[in-house]
Amino acid sequence: MALVNEHFLKLPDNYLFADIAKRVNAFKATHKTNDVISLGIGDVTQPLCPAVIEALHKAVDEMSTAEGFHGYGPEQGYAFLRETILKNDFLPRGIHLDIDEIFINDGAKSDTGNIQELIRWDNSIAVTDPIYPVYIDSNAMIGRAGIKDENGHWSNVTYLPCTAENKFIPSLPDHRVDVIYLCYPNNPTGTVLSKAELRKWVNYALKNDTLIFYDAAYQAYIQDDSIPHSIYEIRGARKCAIEFRSFSKTAGFTGVRCGYTIVPKDLTAATLQGERIPLNPLWNRRQSTKFNGTSYISQRAAAAVYTPEGRQQVRETIGYYMQNAALLRETFLRLGFEVYGGEHAPYLWMRTPENTSSWKFFDEMLYGAHVVCTPGVGFGPSGEGYVRFTAFGSHEQTAEALQRIERWLKL
Ligand SMILES: *Cc1c(COP(=O)(O)O)cnc(C)c1O
Repeated sequence: MALVNEHFLKLPDNYLFADIAKRVNAFKATHKTNDVISLGIGDVTQPLCPAVIEALHKAVDEMSTAEGFHGYGPEQGYAFLRETILKNDFLPRGIHLDIDEIFINDGAKSDTGNIQELIRWDNSIAVTDPIYPVYIDSNAMIGRAGIKDENGHWSNVTYLPCTAENKFIPSLPDHRVDVIYLCYPNNPTGTVLSKAELRKWVNYALKNDTLIFYDAAYQAYIQDDSIPHSIYEIRGARKCAIEFRSFSKTAGFTGVRCGYTIVPKDLTAATLQGERIPLNPLWNRRQSTKFNGTSYISQRAAAAVYTPEGRQQVRETIGYYMQNAALLRETFLRLGFEVYGGEHAPYLWMRTPENTSSWKFFDEMLYGAHVVCTPGVGFGPSGEGYVRFTAFGSHEQTAEALQRIERWLKL
């Protein structure tokens, strides 16, 4: 008989968004209404920009001819896209990379989940809390996270709480860990780290021989250029960090699928005998075996994001979402809520009034205002007592949701 990987059985069986959908459906059924506005799910809503659409059409047409047909591409991605990324996302910020340090993928979720294959199962990991669930769950699946207690803590994971009390700036671990996951701008809290703060993490990693897995999926939302877009803006990060980027939130590619991962050649991990092994060739080997490349069509679409028109159009869409973020922020502050984020990220993180639990507030707002948020506790134990709002709705829906919340509060 085949034995199952029992680590899967330790995972929480209800995915957060399935749980939310269940509650929303129950509400709709009992109230015989469909009139619920969701400011909950982290997916974009605006259409792809014209430059991307044009590139998609062109790539499809190419595929219809024998000369233009593209079958299997390089597992690492096409040179045209890797070069464009280097020239636009890194060189202007003073970051020099080799083309083969850039790996194109089908979105950041795959690689943030897969990257842990490069390290032994018994490494220790640390995460900021609350957190994008992929980081812990992917480690849990091979047993690295240990077991989960009734408070939602995994036994082999170091949690670095991010709460209003520490202004969402996590403290360095008080002991040595092998791997740290960081995500900035942060999902779910919408907060950022300054260059000085990020430098502390790079210095910790260099001093303690720790790897940093840095998720920069939201870097395009940063409005202040003094905030780092890439961890490689910090000296020494090439020796300790892998960075993940995605076109999903930058350019609405959640349904197109394209992103990339930077694995610097200076980055190594040790064997038990102490030999240092570069991770770049290992990741290349892993990708060549388990991944067959992102579609040519998606990569052409991604390259179009960097054309002058593409850049302008993508900037406008991000500006559209950031107007929502500003309206959410202003309104919540005016209504007396304690709210964070939303200035360099499409997420707002609100403290629930009077220590109401995340799920209780979620239900109250659903039933009272017919508006859906995301319960903070779904992102980790330190998310309890908070809820997340996203700026990815339309202007109309966002404004309407806020009016409903204001009316509900006045009842
Ligand atoms: C949305 C998101 C991603 C990107 O996911 P894709 O697979 O690229 O669509 C990565 N990290 C975080 C934290 C996200 O919220």
